Amino acid sequence: NREIQLLRRPVGIPSKEDFKLVSHPVAELQEGEVLVKNTWLSVDPYMRGRMMERASYIEPFALNEVLSGGAVGEVVESRNTDFPVGRKVSSMNGWREYFTSTGDDLQLLPHTEIAEQAFLSVLGMTGMTAFTGLTKIAELKEGDRVFVSAASGAVGAIVCQIAKLKGCYVAGSVGSDEKARYLLDDLGVDAVVNYKTTDDLQESIAKACPEGIDVYFENVGGAHLEAVLNLMNDHGRIAVCGMIDQYNATTPQAGPANLSQLIIKKLKVQGFIVFEHWDDYPAFVEQMTQWIEAGKITWKETVYNGIEQAPDAFIGLFKGENTGKMLVKLA
Ligand code: NDP
Repeated sequence: NREIQLLRRPVGIPSKEDFKLVSHPVAELQEGEVLVKNTWLSVDPYMRGRMMERASYIEPFALNEVLSGGAVGEVVESRNTDFPVGRKVSSMNGWREYFTSTGDDLQLLPHTEIAEQAFLSVLGMTGMTAFTGLTKIAELKEGDRVFVSAASGAVGAIVCQIAKLKGCYVAGSVGSDEKARYLLDDLGVDAVVNYKTTDDLQESIAKACPEGIDVYFENVGGAHLEAVLNLMNDHGRIAVCGMIDQYNATTPQAGPANLSQLIIKKLKVQGFIVFEHWDDYPAFVEQMTQWIEAGKITWKETVYNGIEQAPDAFIGLFKGENTGKMLVKLA
């Protein structure tokens, strides 16, 4: 059994040397336990925050211990009748190939035609984040003019599609022309800004949103937030989901210089953590499954292979290497 441990706390963008691959034998099963073989691992930007020693909504990762994160896998040995051999399960026991469990930390995946790794993306935490942020936090209404940053990522691409389904005008920002084409051609997004090639981010977003912005789905922070604040319409809503532009900062970051826009535009700005809304998860899965089966929501995956590539996959998130959900597939 191989697993990835955190060797030292990254400074700036993480490097492979911050992680180590460790092997050890699988423990023998006790009565009531199951052995799970992970098939897919999720790597997520929020894990960067857990690599720092600081107080947050979730405790920091310990050094020289296996990392944790979303995973799906299959029960390969069982001494627990609730979890028979062959059943697919999800857990937070990622970054490792195998683990034993009493079942308390496992969720059975439903029997469905949809590929199991979708429970790490569109039907899992990322889809739930998009849905919660847009419908509950930003209180999306039909006809809203929506702007989404990191719009081709796992959360962003689902946000764009839900907003289109709800009859909104949707624009987003991305880091490459290929990602822009994906949003325009495949997802039906109305306008896209490549924030890496524009000379003037605010002017480009203004062109993409000629009638201003009613709802901003914030994934990035920094210059994006400052530009968008100037372009918000009166009584606009901002769902603050993430600020990936700051996750690797090594010095304190300047705040937007224009927070008075909150007053001038009478804005509602709300941060959220998806796990606080987990009571809504079953209703979300029902709704999202209907949309998927009706062909109304699609998604992409960027896949790295093998546990040894998990650090590369994670680091790739900060270099824009993924379109859609970044995943690690285990043999
Ligand atoms: P993504 O799939 O969007 O991957 C990250 C993407 O962010 C990259 O592909 C890259 O795309 C973009 N990016 C990276 N660095 C920067 C930067 N400095 N400036 C602008 N864009 C950047 O990840 P997720 O969909 O999993 O997460 C999206 C956001 O949502 C993150 O901020 C994350 O922390 C947050 N989140 C929050 C949750 C909550 O409960 N609040 C739950 C889940 C996610 P590009 O090529 O376009 O630059």
